[in-house]
Amino acid sequence: MTSDGTSTAPDRFWSHVVKGPNRSDCWIWTGAIGDDGYGRFWLPQPDGGQRAMRPQRWLYEHLTGVALLPDVLLLHACDVPLCVHVDVDEAVSHLAPGTHRGNMLERVRRGRHRNEWTTLRTSGLPRSERVRLSRELREAFREHGWDAAAVRACRTGIASDTPTLW
Ligand SMILES: [Zn+2]
Repeated sequence: MTSDGTSTAPDRFWSHVVKGPNRSDCWIWTGAIGDDGYGRFWLPQPDGGQRAMRPQRWLYEHLTGVALLPDVLLLHACDVPLCVHVDVDEAVSHLAPGTHRGNMLERVRRGRHRNEWTTLRTSGLPRSERVRLSRELREAFREHGWDAAAVRACRTGIASDTPTLW
């Protein structure tokens, strides 16, 4: 909280995030979701307006102090669009900057960003499906807190009551 009683940006950010219990788990954004299935973090601007950022980009810039150029993408290794698990340690971070998704896929294949959540499935989904899965995941987390089954369902695009096949 600031002295005038308003929440700071980091306070507001973390109030929308549910972290998994393990170091390698995803951190799920439970705030606003855009029509692309990715999160939106609204930041007040000096002119009194608000600007929406992807929350993972905000956290990356907040933690690293590096401002990402507009054409630099922040790519998910875990393939959970709502995941905001950024770490300055690239071996831990679920997100890494890149200008081409192929670079990231190559790194994942080599094991550098691989963790238990890596499946690379949601990226191939149509946008409408990704939005649906993101909203479902958010509702599950808002209701129950950390929900590994819901993350698994998001990764695979199957309902969370369906037994996992591997
Ligand atoms: Zn993740």
